[in-house]
Formats: sequence, C-alpha cells, structure tokens
Amino acid sequence: MDADTENTGGTGEAVADDGRTDERDPRAAGRAARRDEAVRAAVRQGLLDAGTPLVALLDVTGIRESAAELRAAFDAVTAPGTPVLHAFAVKASPLVPVLRLLREEGIGAEVASPGELALARAAGVEPARTVLDSPAKTPAELREALAAGIAVNADNAQELARIDALTAGSDVRSPVGIRVNPQVGGGSIEALSTATATSKFGVALRDEGAREWVVRAYLDRPWLTRLHAHTGSQGIALSLMARGVAETYALAEEINRRAGRQQVDTVDIGGGLPVNFASEASSPTYTRYARLLSEAVPGLFDGRYGLVTEFGRSLLAKHGTVVARVEYAKSAGGRPVAVTHAGVQVATRTVYAPGSWPLRIAAYDAKGRPKKGSAVVQDVAGPACFAGDLLAQGQELPLLEQGDYAAALDTGAYYFAHHYAYNSLPRPAIHGFAPDGAGGVAFAVVRRAQTIEEIVTESGGEHADALTAGITS
Ligand SMILES: *Cc1c(COP(=O)(O)O)cnc(C)c1O
Repeated sequence: MDADTENTGGTGEAVADDGRTDERDPRAAGRAARRDEAVRAAVRQGLLDAGTPLVALLDVTGIRESAAELRAAFDAVTAPGTPVLHAFAVKASPLVPVLRLLREEGIGAEVASPGELALARAAGVEPARTVLDSPAKTPAELREALAAGIAVNADNAQELARIDALTAGSDVRSPVGIRVNPQVGGGSIEALSTATATSKFGVALRDEGAREWVVRAYLDRPWLTRLHAHTGSQGIALSLMARGVAETYALAEEINRRAGRQQVDTVDIGGGLPVNFASEASSPTYTRYARLLSEAVPGLFDGRYGLVTEFGRSLLAKHGTVVARVEYAKSAGGRPVAVTHAGVQVATRTVYAPGSWPLRIAAYDAKGRPKKGSAVVQDVAGPACFAGDLLAQGQELPLLEQGDYAAALDTGAYYFAHHYAYNSLPRPAIHGFAPDGAGGVAFAVVRRAQTIEEIVTESGGEHADALTAGITS
C-alpha cells in the first residue's frame, strides 16, 4: 500500500480520526446481495454477453437509501424549520436520470459548467434548488444564472466585480455568496485537497488582507447573503472538514457582527464526505458527520443559518458497479492475469493513480454467479494498449477464467460516467436496477452505449478531408 492511502485513508478504512474504522453499516449486506442479483440478472437478460462485454449498473434502491440518510442526518441536528438544501455535486454523476431520481428524493444540484447546468435543467431541478460554483464562470454563464435565480458563489474578486456589473441597478434575485478557502490544510490526495495554502479555489482567507477584504465586500453589498467553502474531497479527514466549516462559520459571524444584522443567512458547507473503498461498509456516515459538525460548530445549527450541502461521491459511489467480461485469462511471470473489457476508459483514476484509488473487484462466473473457490493473487487488466491499464494489481480473489465476469465495485461516482476515450473504446451502457416486484430484477437504460458510428463522427468523421482538401496553401 502506498503511503498516501495509509494516512487519512484516501480510500481505505475511511478517515478514522477517532480510531474507528468500519462503522457498522446495517445496509451493507443488502447492498451486496442486490448487486449479486443484478449481475446474475444482467447476464440472464442478455445485457452482458460476448458481444456486450462491458456494462455499468446503478442500484436505485441504494441511491434512494443514501439520499434519505443524508436528509435524516441533517434533519436530526438542525433546529426545526431550518432551510437545508442538499445540492448534489453533478460532477460526481453527470447523468440526467440520476439527477431526476435525486430530485425526487428532495436533492437539488450543484453545477460547475454550462453542461452540468443543462443536465440539471433536463432533469427538472428547479433554479431555486440549483447552485453554481465553477472557478471559471464566463460573463454569459453568470448572466444566465443570475437571470434564472440560481444561487451563485463568486470565486474571487474579479468574479465579484463581474457580478457587480451584471446586477448594477437591478434587484438581485439569486442568492449570492463568496467562496472562501479556509486554508486549513490538505488530505492524503493532493489533487483533491481544496483548502491548502495555494489551492486554486475561492478567496484564500489567511492571505494578508484577504479576510478584511471579504468582510468589506459584504458590508458594501447588502445582497451578499451566503458564504461558501468546500474543504476537499476524498482523502480529507473529518476533523479537517469540520475545521473548514468552523472557520467559515466564524467568518459569517464576524460579517454579521460588523453588519449589525444577520446579513449572511446561509452557509454552504460544500461536500467531500469520503467514501470507504476498502470494504462494503458505507463509512463514515452522514449521521456521524452531521453530529460531528453540530458538536464542533453548534452555532451553525441553532436556527439562525440556513444550510447548503454539496455532496457528490458519498451519495453515489457505493451504488455503482462496472461489470466486464474476461476475454482471456493468461499467466505472465507466474502471475495470473485476467484480461477484461474494463480499464482506463471507465476507471481512469484507478489506472493512473492506483495507490490513491484502489478498487475492490468481485469475481462472477459465466452465468453471473459469485465465484467460489480459494483466493488467488492475480491482476485484473483492462483492454487498453498500455501496460499500466490494470483495474487491480495483485488482488486476491477466486481465479478468473475466460468467460467469467469481473466487477469493479463502488464505481457509482467519478468512474463510468467519466469516460476517457483512450483507444477509442466506447462508452458502455449504464442500466439502473430495482426489484421487479415479482422476486426478480428490473433494468432501465440510464445511458445507452456509444456506437462505433458515433465514435467515428465524434472523431472528425465528417471532416475527413479537413487537413488535405480542406486546407489549401
Ligand atoms: C467536487 C465538489 C463537490 C463534491 O465533492 P465530493 O467529494 O464528490 O462530495 C462539492 N462542492 C464543490 C465546490 C466541488 O468542487
């Protein structure tokens, strides 16, 4: 194991600030059983076979459970009547049916690009339940969001100046805030640590003069009513996340004290709850995080502040599975290698940074039944043409054979919906699954597979002559 997976549990036994590792998760067994049934049904119903050797599956029951847990966790620690908007970070699973499902579960959308905003709209997420957060918003994006009443968190002074210009003389309908970087430090994964001294996001609060600039910005603009921070994603210890929220709350209190009124009425605490990729248990839980926050920052929960959250990975990761057929089973240097159809195109982070993003692999036989047999150390490889294209290296599982299936678990966020077009490998179909009411499993297409024709078109197929006849010198 790499050093960076060990310290705060970039992935592993997540974030055991208090020495706890696997919290008891009463839903873990049900989740695993539903997954096994779904893989079996996917093979039986022909969603997976020699001609369709790769699919992604989403557990609708599990997604609903996580959404309900999230709502309940914050309901339990907020004063009655506190407005709480849970805005799902669309980047974690940019799929319209997922956003629609979450909307039905009372979850809004946090968007960070025109594409993500369009997805949220296509899913029917209301502007009042949408938050725009990108670090590089264009004037057109800002104008559109402000006209629609979508909440905007300004990233920096230049952006605030743009908002000033766009709103000059008119009523500001959107809730507007400033994103701050509390600079409380990073976690085990540098690329996902947004509260380091030099992170690119938000106003770096501890830089000289920055705090005073923020306070003045609010005092000069009575329509600034929110304050936002997102301390990081996967790999951040809960204690550090809580410190980030505490710093943000302290700033809100300072602004309100100096304004002489409750000008900041809503604190957006971001997302970032880590996911346990090392075992079936969902840990840490929303309940634990919400309790920790309410103990660490009680004033934030006493009813004076509305809350916005922006969880992504923790809502979806445990509910997605990539299932890939084993095309060949071979041996190299004494090690068994299963060559499958899932690699860098659906598990980009794991393939390029295996130390930070190890995935559990489950072995299924050709009929989609969990494989039995003693564990054998083996590699599970993908189809791409470079040696590092490995889903798992040296993992112990029942020996995978030709025609079996390898499933990459906990891949519901930032994996199969984040296709990487290496080797022109197609985007696989994504199917949602749920009980069919008759003891079986029902599937629905969330996103169909990309066709080879689409790959040609998207790869300049319509412009075949562009560099020859298209350019005359
Ligand atoms: C990525 C991101 C999130 C979601 O992070 P997760 O780790 O997926 O929960 C929330 N807010 C902002 C601003 C982000 O950039």
